[in-house]
Amino acid sequence: KYLAHKDAVEPRVQAFLSDNREYALEAAAAVDKKIAAGESISDLAGIPGAIKDNICIKGQNATCASRMLENFKSPYNATVIEKLMNADYVSLGKTNMDEFAMGSSTENSAFQITHNPWNLDCVPGGSSGGSAAAVASGEAVWALGSDTGGSIRQPASYCGLVGMKPTYGLISRYGLIAFASSLDQIGPITTDVTDCAIVLNAIAGHDSKDSTSIVQEKKDYKKALVNDVRGLKIGIPEEYFAEGLDSECRKALEEAIDTYKKLGAEIISLKMPHMKYGLAAYYIIAPAEASSNLARFDGVGFGLRIPGTDIVDMYKKTRSAGFGAEVKRRILLGTYVLSSGYYDAYYLRAMKVRTLVKSDYDEALKQVDVLLTPTVPDTAFKIGQNTDDPLAMYLGDICTVTLNLTGLPGMNICCGYKDGLPIGMQLIAKALDEETLLRAAYTFE
Ligand code: GLN
Repeated sequence: KYLAHKDAVEPRVQAFLSDNREYALEAAAAVDKKIAAGESISDLAGIPGAIKDNICIKGQNATCASRMLENFKSPYNATVIEKLMNADYVSLGKTNMDEFAMGSSTENSAFQITHNPWNLDCVPGGSSGGSAAAVASGEAVWALGSDTGGSIRQPASYCGLVGMKPTYGLISRYGLIAFASSLDQIGPITTDVTDCAIVLNAIAGHDSKDSTSIVQEKKDYKKALVNDVRGLKIGIPEEYFAEGLDSECRKALEEAIDTYKKLGAEIISLKMPHMKYGLAAYYIIAPAEASSNLARFDGVGFGLRIPGTDIVDMYKKTRSAGFGAEVKRRILLGTYVLSSGYYDAYYLRAMKVRTLVKSDYDEALKQVDVLLTPTVPDTAFKIGQNTDDPLAMYLGDICTVTLNLTGLPGMNICCGYKDGLPIGMQLIAKALDEETLLRAAYTFE
């Protein structure tokens, strides 16, 4: 049924970079067999999903939507894939994204433009736009995305979905092709909060292959699906509702705050004076780490190689042909802010700002259980609208990047519509308190 639906809508949505139907049918048949044999199966068994194309699945392409990795096949499974295999997952294919996860619209893919299923003239958001579009179009029930500065939450917002960036370290990054290692996290994109908890159950947990993975007891996130927010303290940070937030989005968020009040939550206004510096710090730290992580794509180890007259010429030709404009921009920015003479002025200063931003959130979350903010200042924009203006594109990330700087968990949930496009709200909780996020979102939903 899902394959037939995918065939019908995919030519218009273009969410997928690869089709995995033979494997999917085999995996589904294996689940049928288990059921027939009376074996117990997980909540996720046999449910069609989709995987962002920067997550490695053994023997399959992992292109990162880049010419650089166009013909690269992963020699191993990411830990999340191993965990999903234990849950008898079915993946219909790998999804489109901004090249190396750099972008907010999926327009930076070297291969195709994904369309927002709510309005095909609009972007689905990014960088996990293919994953979000696959779920919003009903092609897949759930998808994995990655979030370095909002790439799960922002496309979930643009596509009216639930998208969670878990606490940094809750989910293994092993086998996620790195963009900015201190910010990257894998997470679920789903249509509702229950599905989010189910996918989180399957992929969360300590992994010795990821040195930043947190050791903690396994939780059952479904237990957090409690329809009750009485007494929950919800903080509203003033800075998030400043100028630049679209008026209809503001209205929808205010109504959501009212709903929580009616449901018995306590609403508390807060100030977060350093939040406004988060975006600038992110756009120094993320490119700095990216420039270092992407140094491995040199035509030697893997991926594209364009022969040259000598090795330096080969590097130059390979990297010039393999990377798109946005990736090159980030590498240039990153190497600049890390270069001697500028390191102190930019990178080191950004790291200090990162600490200040973190202290704002720590203070706020001492007073409240969750924070409620916009996910993005507006609804999905038209394809092509921001392609010549990287700064305008970056500005849209203002509400999401701070959670990656701080490592805190956050999720998007739909709270209204403007001109037929979904409006998202972001819930933020303390580190490793995904349960409170899920409870708050579940009750609202
Ligand atoms: N839009 C942000 C960027 O371009 C975030 C990307 C992400 O989370 N991968 O860097």
